[in-house]
Amino acid sequence: MLPSAMIFDVDGTLSETEELHRQAFNEIFAAEKLPWHWDAADYRRLLDVAGGKERIAHFLAAQPEGADRAVGRIAELHAAKTARYSALIAAGAALRPGVERLIREAKAAGVRLAIATTTSLPNVEALLGASLGREAIALFEVIGAGDVVPAKKPAPDIYQYVLERLALPASACVAFEDSTNGVRAARGAGLATIVTQGMYTEGDDFAGALAVLSDLGEPDAPYRHLAGAGAGDRLVTLDALGRWLEAA
Ligand SMILES: [Mg+2]
Repeated sequence: MLPSAMIFDVDGTLSETEELHRQAFNEIFAAEKLPWHWDAADYRRLLDVAGGKERIAHFLAAQPEGADRAVGRIAELHAAKTARYSALIAAGAALRPGVERLIREAKAAGVRLAIATTTSLPNVEALLGASLGREAIALFEVIGAGDVVPAKKPAPDIYQYVLERLALPASACVAFEDSTNGVRAARGAGLATIVTQGMYTEGDDFAGALAVLSDLGEPDAPYRHLAGAGAGDRLVTLDALGRWLEAA
């Protein structure tokens, strides 16, 4: 049984965009001659604080030096970081392994595609356009992005919004996620969920996922199977998804 539609999270699932957020923060710190550089381990801890401005404030509160120069300028620093991030996305963010392969396979087979994310629509469009080409937006029939629903993941609302617009039951669709909150949102909407663990979500709780994998896999670089369905396969394909859904 092939799914009728596949619904993708964006940040961490289509692309490791948190790395671009981190790079944008570091470039702004350097441009402002602020004595900080967030490495991947720092940033993973900081991701526990939701929201860019809140993240900067939390970090400043723990700094022995330099904080006094920045503390009144958090909104300004954050605006500069947001502009820098948009430029980095538009310059071309890499998609994770297997993403483009599976999207093209779905399109060719008539499986419908959608997006469910809390990222703003301009950032989603910039990412898709830079990575998949100008026709990329048209590949996705429904894009649930930004503030179209007030309750963010782990609330299921963004997935319910997308399912309504696809006019499909959750049982006919599959979600792709990389985080605990994402799995909770998708499962809350009743969706079978494939997790491709990201560099910032390694070891997170993915309870309820149909499969937990390192990525979607490429022919020359198969995925690592971590939990659930998919132990005997090498790539996430429509055929494999169909078998996993039937056995679930
Ligand atoms: Mg994500």
